[in-house]
Amino acid sequence: MLTSNYIGRFAPSPTGPLHFGSLVAAVASYCDAKAHGGKWLVRMEDVDRAREMPGAADDILHTLEAYGFEWDDKVIYQSQRDETYHAAFTRLQAQQLVYACTCSRKEIADSALKIGIEGVIYPRTCYQNPKIEASLAPNIHATYRVVTKNRLICFTDEIQGEVKQNLETQIGDFVLKRADGLFAYQLAVVVDDAAQGVTHVVRGADLLNSTPRQIYLQQLLGLPTPNYAHVPIATNSKGEKLSKQTLAEPISIRLAGHSLFDALCFLGQNPPSEMQNATLDEMWRWSLNNWSLAKIPHQRDLISLKA
Ligand code: GLU
Ligand code: ZN
Repeated sequence: MLTSNYIGRFAPSPTGPLHFGSLVAAVASYCDAKAHGGKWLVRMEDVDRAREMPGAADDILHTLEAYGFEWDDKVIYQSQRDETYHAAFTRLQAQQLVYACTCSRKEIADSALKIGIEGVIYPRTCYQNPKIEASLAPNIHATYRVVTKNRLICFTDEIQGEVKQNLETQIGDFVLKRADGLFAYQLAVVVDDAAQGVTHVVRGADLLNSTPRQIYLQQLLGLPTPNYAHVPIATNSKGEKLSKQTLAEPISIRLAGHSLFDALCFLGQNPPSEMQNATLDEMWRWSLNNWSLAKIPHQRDLISLKA
Protein backbone atom coordinates (compact mmCIF):
# COMPACT_ATOMS: atom_id res chain seq x y z
CA MET A 1 0.00 0.00 0.00
CA LEU A 2 1.35 3.40 -0.87
CA THR A 3 1.06 5.92 1.88
CA SER A 4 3.09 8.86 0.77
CA ASN A 5 2.65 10.65 4.09
CA TYR A 6 4.86 7.94 5.58
CA ILE A 7 7.85 9.37 7.47
CA GLY A 8 10.36 6.91 8.85
CA ARG A 9 13.67 7.43 10.57
CA PHE A 10 16.92 5.89 11.71
CA ALA A 11 18.22 7.22 15.01
CA PRO A 12 21.72 5.96 15.79
CA SER A 13 23.57 6.86 18.98
CA PRO A 14 27.11 7.90 18.06
CA THR A 15 28.73 5.74 20.71
CA GLY A 16 30.83 3.99 18.07
CA PRO A 17 30.86 3.09 14.39
CA LEU A 18 27.93 1.29 12.75
CA HIS A 19 27.88 -2.45 13.38
CA PHE A 20 25.75 -5.16 11.84
CA GLY A 21 22.96 -4.67 14.40
CA SER A 22 22.57 -1.00 13.57
CA LEU A 23 22.78 -1.77 9.85
CA VAL A 24 19.82 -4.13 10.22
CA ALA A 25 17.75 -1.34 11.85
CA ALA A 26 18.85 1.12 9.17
CA VAL A 27 17.99 -1.25 6.30
CA ALA A 28 14.61 -2.19 7.77
CA SER A 29 13.55 1.41 8.43
CA TYR A 30 14.84 2.55 5.03
CA CYS A 31 13.21 -0.22 3.00
CA ASP A 32 9.91 0.12 4.80
CA ALA A 33 9.84 3.89 4.25
CA LYS A 34 10.93 3.75 0.62
CA ALA A 35 8.71 0.79 -0.27
CA HIS A 36 5.79 2.92 1.00
CA GLY A 37 6.88 5.90 -1.09
CA GLY A 38 7.73 7.69 2.14
CA LYS A 39 10.53 9.80 3.51
CA TRP A 40 13.42 8.51 5.58
CA LEU A 41 15.20 10.73 8.08
CA VAL A 42 18.37 10.34 10.10
CA ARG A 43 18.64 11.67 13.65
CA MET A 44 21.83 11.58 15.68
CA GLU A 45 20.92 10.57 19.22
CA ASP A 46 23.80 12.25 20.97
CA VAL A 47 21.73 13.47 23.90
CA ASP A 48 24.03 11.54 26.26
CA ARG A 49 27.27 13.44 25.66
CA ALA A 50 29.17 11.20 28.05
CA ARG A 51 28.62 8.13 25.90
CA GLU A 52 29.51 9.79 22.64
CA MET A 53 32.67 8.70 20.85
CA PRO A 54 34.38 11.63 19.13
CA GLY A 55 34.08 11.33 15.35
CA ALA A 56 31.46 8.57 15.50
CA ALA A 57 28.58 10.72 14.21
CA ASP A 58 30.48 11.69 11.06
CA ASP A 59 31.74 8.16 10.66
CA ILE A 60 28.17 6.80 10.83
CA LEU A 61 26.92 9.27 8.22
CA HIS A 62 29.85 8.51 5.96
CA THR A 63 29.19 4.78 6.25
CA LEU A 64 25.47 5.20 5.54
CA GLU A 65 26.31 7.22 2.47
CA ALA A 66 28.82 4.67 1.23
CA TYR A 67 26.16 1.97 1.61
CA GLY A 68 23.84 3.98 -0.63
CA PHE A 69 21.33 5.22 1.94
CA GLU A 70 19.75 8.54 1.01
CA TRP A 71 18.07 10.64 3.69
CA ASP A 72 15.40 13.14 2.82
CA ASP A 73 16.18 16.05 5.09
CA LYS A 74 19.06 17.39 7.04
CA VAL A 75 20.27 15.31 9.94
CA ILE A 76 19.18 16.58 13.34
CA TYR A 77 21.37 16.31 16.43
CA GLN A 78 19.85 15.82 19.84
CA SER A 79 22.76 17.65 21.43
CA GLN A 80 21.41 20.84 19.88
CA ARG A 81 17.84 20.45 21.02
CA ASP A 82 17.89 20.96 24.80
CA GLU A 83 15.52 23.92 24.59
CA THR A 84 12.90 21.83 22.86
CA TYR A 85 13.22 19.04 25.43
CA HIS A 86 13.08 21.63 28.18
CA ALA A 87 9.79 22.96 26.80
CA ALA A 88 8.23 19.48 26.86
CA PHE A 89 9.62 18.88 30.35
CA THR A 90 8.07 22.13 31.56
CA ARG A 91 4.69 21.10 30.14
CA LEU A 92 4.84 17.87 32.11
CA GLN A 93 5.89 19.77 35.23
CA ALA A 94 2.91 22.08 34.82
CA GLN A 95 0.68 18.99 34.92
CA GLN A 96 2.22 18.02 38.29
CA LEU A 97 3.53 14.83 36.77
CA VAL A 98 7.21 15.39 37.44
CA TYR A 99 9.09 15.26 40.74
CA ALA A 100 12.65 15.68 41.88
CA CYS A 101 14.45 12.64 43.22
CA THR A 102 17.65 12.86 45.23
CA CYS A 103 18.08 9.15 45.91
CA SER A 104 21.40 7.61 45.10
CA ARG A 105 21.60 4.40 43.14
CA LYS A 106 22.51 2.60 46.34
CA GLU A 107 19.59 4.04 48.29
CA ILE A 108 17.23 2.87 45.58
CA ALA A 109 18.78 -0.58 45.48
CA ASP A 110 18.65 -0.88 49.28
CA SER A 111 15.03 0.20 49.59
CA ALA A 112 13.55 -1.35 46.50
CA LEU A 113 11.44 -4.41 47.07
CA LYS A 114 10.03 -4.83 43.64
CA ILE A 115 11.82 -5.92 40.52
CA GLY A 116 10.33 -4.92 37.20
CA ILE A 117 11.26 -5.86 33.67
CA GLU A 118 14.26 -3.56 33.68
CA GLY A 119 15.53 -4.11 37.20
CA VAL A 120 14.41 -2.52 40.44
CA ILE A 121 11.30 -0.38 40.47
CA TYR A 122 11.94 3.01 42.00
CA PRO A 123 10.05 2.96 45.34
CA ARG A 124 8.78 6.55 45.03
CA THR A 125 10.64 7.67 48.13
CA CYS A 126 10.80 11.26 46.90
CA TYR A 127 7.29 11.49 45.48
CA GLN A 128 5.20 14.28 47.01
CA ASN A 129 7.93 15.02 49.49
CA PRO A 130 7.98 18.78 49.95
CA LYS A 131 11.33 18.54 51.75
CA ILE A 132 13.04 17.42 48.58
CA GLU A 133 12.20 20.45 46.45
CA ALA A 134 12.94 22.74 49.37
CA SER A 135 16.30 21.15 49.97
CA LEU A 136 17.48 21.57 46.39
CA ALA A 137 20.20 24.16 46.24
CA PRO A 138 20.08 26.34 43.16
CA ASN A 139 22.37 24.99 40.45
CA ILE A 140 22.39 21.55 41.99
CA HIS A 141 20.56 19.20 39.72
CA ALA A 142 18.36 16.45 40.97
CA THR A 143 17.05 13.59 38.91
CA TYR A 144 13.52 14.27 37.69
CA ARG A 145 11.03 11.45 37.33
CA VAL A 146 7.60 11.22 35.78
CA VAL A 147 4.79 9.65 37.79
CA THR A 148 3.47 6.51 36.17
CA LYS A 149 -0.20 5.93 36.57
CA ASN A 150 -1.61 2.50 37.14
CA ARG A 151 -2.66 2.34 33.56
CA LEU A 152 -2.11 -0.40 31.05
CA ILE A 153 -0.38 0.76 27.87
CA CYS A 154 -1.30 -1.45 24.92
CA PHE A 155 -0.20 -1.29 21.34
CA THR A 156 0.11 -3.61 18.39
CA ASP A 157 3.60 -3.88 17.06
CA GLU A 158 3.64 -4.68 13.35
CA ILE A 159 6.16 -7.47 13.87
CA GLN A 160 5.95 -8.44 17.54
CA GLY A 161 2.15 -8.31 17.83
CA GLU A 162 0.21 -7.21 20.92
CA VAL A 163 2.24 -5.60 23.67
CA LYS A 164 0.75 -4.77 27.07
CA GLN A 165 2.63 -3.10 29.86
CA ASN A 166 1.65 -1.62 33.17
CA LEU A 167 4.18 1.15 33.68
CA GLU A 168 3.65 1.50 37.39
CA THR A 169 4.12 -2.17 38.27
CA GLN A 170 6.54 -3.22 35.53
CA ILE A 171 8.77 -0.18 35.03
CA GLY A 172 8.12 2.41 37.73
CA ASP A 173 8.48 6.19 37.68
CA PHE A 174 11.17 6.72 35.08
CA VAL A 175 13.75 9.43 34.63
CA LEU A 176 13.10 12.40 32.33
CA LYS A 177 16.06 14.51 33.34
CA ARG A 178 19.24 13.23 34.85
CA ALA A 179 21.22 14.61 37.75
CA ASP A 180 23.86 15.85 35.30
CA GLY A 181 21.20 18.03 33.69
CA LEU A 182 20.84 15.97 30.52
CA PHE A 183 17.43 14.94 29.29
CA ALA A 184 16.77 11.22 29.13
CA TYR A 185 16.48 9.27 25.90
CA GLN A 186 12.79 8.49 26.56
CA LEU A 187 11.83 12.15 26.55
CA ALA A 188 14.12 13.18 23.70
CA VAL A 189 12.95 10.42 21.39
CA VAL A 190 9.28 11.26 21.92
CA VAL A 191 9.80 14.97 21.35
CA ASP A 192 11.91 14.35 18.25
CA ASP A 193 9.71 11.74 16.63
CA ALA A 194 6.83 14.21 16.91
CA ALA A 195 8.91 17.21 15.78
CA GLN A 196 10.05 15.31 12.69
CA GLY A 197 6.51 14.13 11.94
CA VAL A 198 7.57 10.48 12.17
CA THR A 199 4.63 8.20 11.36
CA HIS A 200 6.45 4.84 11.45
CA VAL A 201 9.18 3.73 13.81
CA VAL A 202 11.08 0.64 12.65
CA ARG A 203 13.91 -0.24 15.05
CA GLY A 204 15.51 -3.05 17.06
CA ALA A 205 13.44 -5.15 19.44
CA ASP A 206 15.76 -4.15 22.29
CA LEU A 207 13.57 -1.02 22.43
CA LEU A 208 10.26 -2.87 22.57
CA ASN A 209 10.10 -2.46 26.37
CA SER A 210 10.73 1.27 26.04
CA THR A 211 7.82 1.82 23.69
CA PRO A 212 5.07 1.93 26.35
CA ARG A 213 7.04 4.66 28.19
CA GLN A 214 7.21 6.59 24.95
CA ILE A 215 3.51 6.12 24.25
CA TYR A 216 2.72 7.31 27.78
CA LEU A 217 4.76 10.49 27.25
CA GLN A 218 3.09 11.04 23.87
CA GLN A 219 -0.29 10.82 25.58
CA LEU A 220 0.72 13.25 28.33
CA LEU A 221 2.12 15.71 25.81
CA GLY A 222 -0.79 15.35 23.37
CA LEU A 223 1.48 14.00 20.62
CA PRO A 224 0.50 11.39 18.04
CA THR A 225 1.66 7.79 18.50
CA PRO A 226 3.48 6.47 15.43
CA ASN A 227 3.18 2.89 14.16
CA TYR A 228 5.82 0.64 15.65
CA ALA A 229 7.65 -2.32 14.14
CA HIS A 230 10.47 -3.87 16.16
CA VAL A 231 12.87 -6.03 14.17
CA PRO A 232 14.75 -8.89 15.83
CA ILE A 233 18.11 -7.95 17.21
CA ALA A 234 21.38 -9.32 16.01
CA THR A 235 23.41 -11.17 18.61
CA ASN A 236 26.94 -12.50 18.65
CA SER A 237 27.79 -16.16 19.11
CA LYS A 238 27.35 -15.76 22.88
CA GLY A 239 23.82 -14.52 22.43
CA GLU A 240 24.68 -10.96 23.43
CA LYS A 241 23.19 -8.01 21.61
CA LEU A 242 25.69 -6.50 19.19
CA SER A 243 26.75 -3.19 20.63
CA LYS A 244 29.77 -1.18 21.48
CA GLN A 245 29.75 -2.85 24.93
CA THR A 246 30.00 -6.31 23.39
CA LEU A 247 32.70 -5.02 21.05
CA ALA A 248 30.70 -5.53 17.87
CA GLU A 249 32.87 -5.07 14.83
CA PRO A 250 32.26 -2.05 12.68
CA ILE A 251 30.75 -2.84 9.28
CA SER A 252 33.15 -2.37 6.43
CA ILE A 253 32.59 0.00 3.55
CA ARG A 254 34.65 -2.18 1.23
CA LEU A 255 32.29 -5.10 1.87
CA ALA A 256 29.09 -3.05 1.71
CA GLY A 257 27.42 -5.43 -0.74
CA HIS A 258 28.10 -8.41 1.49
CA SER A 259 26.84 -6.73 4.63
CA LEU A 260 23.73 -5.46 2.89
CA PHE A 261 23.04 -8.93 1.55
CA ASP A 262 23.50 -10.40 5.04
CA ALA A 263 21.20 -7.77 6.54
CA LEU A 264 18.48 -8.65 4.01
CA CYS A 265 18.88 -12.34 4.86
CA PHE A 266 18.73 -11.55 8.57
CA LEU A 267 15.49 -9.68 7.91
CA GLY A 268 13.98 -12.74 6.22
CA GLN A 269 13.80 -11.11 2.79
CA ASN A 270 15.38 -14.11 0.99
CA PRO A 271 17.40 -12.27 -1.63
CA PRO A 272 18.32 -14.61 -4.52
CA SER A 273 21.90 -15.82 -4.18
CA GLU A 274 23.00 -14.21 -7.46
CA MET A 275 22.24 -10.90 -5.74
CA GLN A 276 25.46 -11.40 -3.80
CA ASN A 277 27.43 -10.28 -6.83
CA ALA A 278 25.09 -7.44 -7.77
CA THR A 279 26.01 -3.77 -7.48
CA LEU A 280 24.72 -1.81 -4.49
CA ASP A 281 22.26 -0.05 -6.79
CA GLU A 282 20.84 -3.32 -8.04
CA MET A 283 20.64 -4.64 -4.52
CA TRP A 284 18.70 -1.62 -3.31
CA ARG A 285 16.37 -1.80 -6.28
CA TRP A 286 15.66 -5.45 -5.54
CA SER A 287 15.18 -4.69 -1.84
CA LEU A 288 12.66 -1.93 -2.33
CA ASN A 289 10.71 -3.86 -4.98
CA ASN A 290 10.55 -6.99 -2.88
CA TRP A 291 10.36 -5.56 0.62
CA SER A 292 7.97 -7.40 2.90
CA LEU A 293 7.60 -6.56 6.57
CA ALA A 294 5.56 -9.74 6.94
CA LYS A 295 8.62 -11.86 6.13
CA ILE A 296 10.64 -10.49 9.05
CA PRO A 297 10.94 -13.13 11.78
CA HIS A 298 9.88 -12.13 15.31
CA GLN A 299 13.08 -13.43 16.71
CA ARG A 300 16.28 -14.82 15.31
CA ASP A 301 18.06 -17.84 16.60
CA LEU A 302 21.63 -17.27 17.55
CA ILE A 303 23.60 -16.47 14.51
CA SER A 304 27.33 -16.49 14.35
CA LEU A 305 28.44 -13.55 12.38
CA LYS A 306 31.35 -13.92 10.10
CA ALA A 307 34.42 -12.10 11.30
N1 GLU B 1 19.41 5.76 19.61
C1 GLU B 1 18.86 4.47 19.89
C2 GLU B 1 19.90 3.40 19.68
O1 GLU B 1 20.82 3.60 18.91
C3 GLU B 1 17.69 4.14 18.98
C4 GLU B 1 16.52 4.87 19.38
C5 GLU B 1 15.29 4.62 18.54
O2 GLU B 1 15.38 4.10 17.41
O3 GLU B 1 14.24 4.97 19.02
O4 GLU B 1 19.78 2.35 20.27
ZN1 ZN C 1 14.26 9.60 45.22
